[in-house]
Amino acid sequence: MRLPTVPPTAGLPLQFGDLLPWRGGDLARDLAAWLQLPEVQLECSGTSALMVALRALKALEPGRSEVVAPAYTCPLVALAIAQCGLQLRLCDLRADALDLDPRALRGLCSAKTLAVLPTHLCGRVADVDQALACARAVGAYVIEDAAQALGARNGGESVGMRGDLGFFSLAVGKGLSTFEGGVLVAREASMRAALRQAGASGSSPGWELRRCVELLGYAALYRPSGLGLAYGRPLAQALSRRDWVEAAGDDFGDFIPQHALGRWRQRVGASALRRLGAFQREAQQRAMGRVARLQALGLEVVADAAAGAQGVWPVILLRLPSGQLRDDFLQSHWGDGSGLSLPFVYVLPDYGRYDHVLGTAGGDAVSRARDWAQRLLAISNSPWLDDSRFDRLLSDLQRLLPRSG
Ligand SMILES: *Cc1c(COP(=O)(O)O)cnc(C)c1O
Repeated sequence: MRLPTVPPTAGLPLQFGDLLPWRGGDLARDLAAWLQLPEVQLECSGTSALMVALRALKALEPGRSEVVAPAYTCPLVALAIAQCGLQLRLCDLRADALDLDPRALRGLCSAKTLAVLPTHLCGRVADVDQALACARAVGAYVIEDAAQALGARNGGESVGMRGDLGFFSLAVGKGLSTFEGGVLVAREASMRAALRQAGASGSSPGWELRRCVELLGYAALYRPSGLGLAYGRPLAQALSRRDWVEAAGDDFGDFIPQHALGRWRQRVGASALRRLGAFQREAQQRAMGRVARLQALGLEVVADAAAGAQGVWPVILLRLPSGQLRDDFLQSHWGDGSGLSLPFVYVLPDYGRYDHVLGTAGGDAVSRARDWAQRLLAISNSPWLDDSRFDRLLSDLQRLLPRSG
């Protein structure tokens, strides 16, 4: 008997009723209410949202040209920065937390710095205050990359509100999905006005039609019976070619489309949003139980870097004792549909294929980030990874662990 394919993250499945245009509401209004914010701005992807944010900041500070991001992040961040004509600087990570290293960050920040991007990777909340302190000291802005953290909170507020601005992704696999979509938020009304000014408001019928078809495909196939075809097969093919970059979905092209998020897809998102709170609460409960069991085995589960924050749980992120052990465990289960994956395969300079957008950032020190990249492993927190399958993963992992004592 073949077990169903578990998706790599806990994406919210769509229901047939979500597709009926009269069912959905106004996504911008409903999302702002759900996040308890005065206003949000919709864009066609998280990457496009980041580009809008960068253009808005560049208009405010035309003399500044550098953007500091973690060395271990989504390659789309590097592509977006390059496409805005800005120079990326790569910041190494802390040894004790999946977050920007403050010493490295201070070393990179200068009068050239336009923005710093603390990143809430895999739903874990970064320490934005620390990034703010470094950025403010040189007059730079802070953009919270909350692409993977819609619903996460810090200090009683949505992430994205401690920095000057923040963005979420509505791409497949990042929680709520319009197949591709992005959301911009900002604390100050003046910054929100600057974002509106820089927003990508033009419609693109070609791209929108394509995204509508893709969203229908997602609605049809994002279920235990459909994922073998839509996710499992291409994954197995990539793995058989030993192409980890494609298997992890880290293979991006240079071109970033920018257009308005279409009406129908907004309505689908607004309809699904009504179930997101309950879905995330359930995900958190499932994660808490499983995190406790992983920790009982002596495993290191990555936690929020910001004290007292409430992250979200698309995956449970482990830092394994060695890269070899991580690779061995991943190889034994990646292709079998048990929901293992990598947040990203490499630190940005190690892909090679993104060198053309790194520029001088290729020379920035990234050794601790590289160590994280080699030892991290994400276990899906999808409801379709049931207890018996999680138990099997756990006992297989336990067998690989060095015996203590
Ligand atoms: C996915 C992702 C992005 C880009 O978002 P898209 O909606 O896919 O364009 C940016 N940053 C991080 C950390 C991401 O994971």
